[in-house]
Amino acid sequence: MRNLILILIPLLFAGCMATPKGADWALVIHGGAGTIERGSMTQEKESQYRAALTEALEAGAAVLANGGSSAEAVEATIHIMEDSPLFNSGKGAVFTSEGTVELDASFMDGATGNAGAVAGVKTVRHPISAARMVMDSSVHVMMAGNGADQFARQMGLEIVSNEYFFTDRRHNQLKRIQEQEQGTMLDHDSEGATEGMDPLDKKHGTVGCVALDMAGNLAAGTSTGGMTNKRFGRVGDSPVIGAGTYADNATCGVSCTGHGEYFIRNVVAYDVAARMKYLGESVATAADHVVNKHLVEQGGTGGLIAMDAQGNIAMPFNTAGMYRGYLKADGEIVIEIYRD
Ligand code: ASP
Repeated sequence: MRNLILILIPLLFAGCMATPKGADWALVIHGGAGTIERGSMTQEKESQYRAALTEALEAGAAVLANGGSSAEAVEATIHIMEDSPLFNSGKGAVFTSEGTVELDASFMDGATGNAGAVAGVKTVRHPISAARMVMDSSVHVMMAGNGADQFARQMGLEIVSNEYFFTDRRHNQLKRIQEQEQGTMLDHDSEGATEGMDPLDKKHGTVGCVALDMAGNLAAGTSTGGMTNKRFGRVGDSPVIGAGTYADNATCGVSCTGHGEYFIRNVVAYDVAARMKYLGESVATAADHVVNKHLVEQGGTGGLIAMDAQGNIAMPFNTAGMYRGYLKADGEIVIEIYRD
């Protein structure tokens, strides 16, 4: 018995040291997955993406390093990406077939299980804040269309005209896809040649973030314009809790990007958490299985970011690339774009 105690005490001590509760924070982001290849990217464009992702991580890190909550960090991080025309969220969002912009976003708090989402908003500069407002300041989980826009205005969020979101790049993208399209609804790369383009050659430019704060709480958020040339009224996975976003301190926080219809049907974000919960898989194994096995088997393209409450991060994708990055309290900013 005495021997057992002598063995157990150091083990318990080591366990505490490995996860020093209240001492760590971490942040992981994505800026969309898709046909992002080294060969078709200019150095200038790559630096712009790296700078925007870095700025986003720094904004969230500032919150976390000062003891702010993971929810505050997710919101601050996503604001930067929503304001950047590089990403398909907020300013720079893709167009519907009608030439309008309809934005979706969702938010989940891993400590409480509270969640909020907006779908098809047209006038909210930061849809991620509207999603967080639904979570924090309403009795609902999801609001859509005019009612969601009106709720955001009543809550004092910044309102803009739908034209605010328009960019030439996205408009050209819509024109090209409409010219050449015979039934596909995918987010093509406006920079790439369109002639002879594979209809599956696409980029999903959604943005997302998962944060872990010093109190050990996870939060996750996702914001998007959806898919280029989507029918007006179409809603993807991004505002659907469990499909595009999920967070639970007991398992992980997740934010997805990809062909939304597949992500909804497969309840992708929750599936990662469920595999951890019921199969005891690590966040890396669970996320890899869902993205690289389950989705691949069905032809669902995209990727996700996931982080557990110990700060272990997974960023799997089954496309050529995914804009992604992370930062931990004791580390340096890591930004990755391509597969290799
Ligand atoms: N998942 C988003 C949607 O289907 C698109 C994306 O991630 O780019 O609306």
